[in-house]
Amino acid sequence: MYARRWSNAKGLFLYDHLGGRELLPGTKTLDLRTDAAGTALKPEFRRAFEYSDCWIEDSRLVVLNARDAMRHGATIMPRTRVVSARREAGSWVITLCDSTAQWQVRARMLVNAAGPWAETVIKGVVGQNSSDHIRLVRGSHIVTKRLFDHDRSYFLQGRDGRIIFAIPYEGDFTLIGTTDKDHPDAATPPVCTEEESNYLIDFASQYFARPVTKDDIVWRFSGVRPLYDDGAGSATAATRDYVLKTDDAGNVPLLNIFGGKITTYRKLAEAAMAEIAPRLDNRHGPWTAGAPLPGGDFAVAEVTTLMADLRQQYPFLDAAWARRLVRAYGTDAFEILGAASTTDQLGEHFSATITAAELDWVMANEWVATGEDFLWRRSKLGLVVTDSEAAAIDDYVRNRTRTGTTGTGGARTGGTAPTSNAASAATGMAGASA
Ligand SMILES: Cc1cc2nc3c(=O)[nH]c(=O)nc-3n(C[C@H](O)[C@H](O)[C@H](O)COP(=O)(O)OP(=O)(O)OC[C@H]3O[C@@H](n4cnc5c(N)ncnc54)[C@H](O)[C@@H]3O)c2cc1C
Repeated sequence: MYARRWSNAKGLFLYDHLGGRELLPGTKTLDLRTDAAGTALKPEFRRAFEYSDCWIEDSRLVVLNARDAMRHGATIMPRTRVVSARREAGSWVITLCDSTAQWQVRARMLVNAAGPWAETVIKGVVGQNSSDHIRLVRGSHIVTKRLFDHDRSYFLQGRDGRIIFAIPYEGDFTLIGTTDKDHPDAATPPVCTEEESNYLIDFASQYFARPVTKDDIVWRFSGVRPLYDDGAGSATAATRDYVLKTDDAGNVPLLNIFGGKITTYRKLAEAAMAEIAPRLDNRHGPWTAGAPLPGGDFAVAEVTTLMADLRQQYPFLDAAWARRLVRAYGTDAFEILGAASTTDQLGEHFSATITAAELDWVMANEWVATGEDFLWRRSKLGLVVTDSEAAAIDDYVRNRTRTGTTGTGGARTGGTAPTSNAASAATGMAGASA
């Protein structure tokens, strides 16, 4: 972390001493006149504080949770909306619909994990009043051409007291975010406005030696944080904690989840299970703390070895290709490449590293049904493919989906169709998810 104020240094001291430090290095002070981190910054910045933390590609986390849930017996219904839910004769009667049909299911308990739509679900879908409110706070990002050459991130404090980050992103890019803007309602798609984009450009340009300009921007995106409305004045000050509320009316329980962060998604899921388990007579207890998600059955320190093993087994892979596959799929990369001994055996090539074998696998295992699903919702490869490559990928995926030559993609028994921030597994009505 690179911050200017002493209060941040005190915060980092606490961060070091409150959290476990088994894998990550501790905080230190940097002399920006000599450290490589200073090269990209204006010379007036001479001192910074550095700390270490983890990051996650949120779309991968969500789809892996959905796959894991399915592996443990959950039915995942992508692109399926809960239209209504009513208590009837001791259970929930839930009406679902997709693009072709409407049908009903019964359930003993309903979990409303609809994120920004949680309040809409209570009022519109369940048809109840709610004294709890969600505060929708939009956060926008810009992605620029790479602004610096090292692999560390900058956290920058602005004149308005807010903090933004500039993070190395998908190899050739830098991700800058975020804003905190009250968002009107869940039905309004979030977009990064010109004002937000300019705010981020101006903020970053206060620090970087070469000013960030509009021409550097290659992509902008925005999401809505579903924050529990605790009556805080500003969007920045609103609580980031989650709140769970269970309504046992008629002995047919409804669990409403308000707020929640990706960072604490597993803790939130355990708290949700503490509400759900006694009501469904589930005695299993928490088990996910040490359980890897699909493809994640290796230690952090073994990533380099895993890439080397992949290249040894598939000598036609170059380092960048092996790295991408391991970062996205972990040990499942071996399953994707199967028995191939040449690139030709992976089928059609759509770009330097995207082959029919990979597309077939994500259609069969990650509910991919369009090119956009693969290029933007399961990865950020949309940033690096050309328009014609993206069109060819979309054609291939849609044809395979239409002719039914894939596994679960698009099927009613398949997966997740993230529609918002990181998106949750299933409908927001079930399961543990980000
Ligand atoms: C800009 C930004 C930056 C963030 N940064 C961080 C960060 O650094 N660290 C962090 O931990 N968190 C961060 N978050 C927060 C995090 O992304 C969200 O808290 C998280 O995605 C919320 O997950 P969720 O599952 O509750 O909601 P969502 O991911 O929004 O999922 C809700 C799901 O419910 C579905 N749904 C809604 N209504 C219905 C219906 N009627 N029928 C069926 N399905 C329905 C939606 O389609 C959606 O898939 C950030 C969020 C934003 C916007």
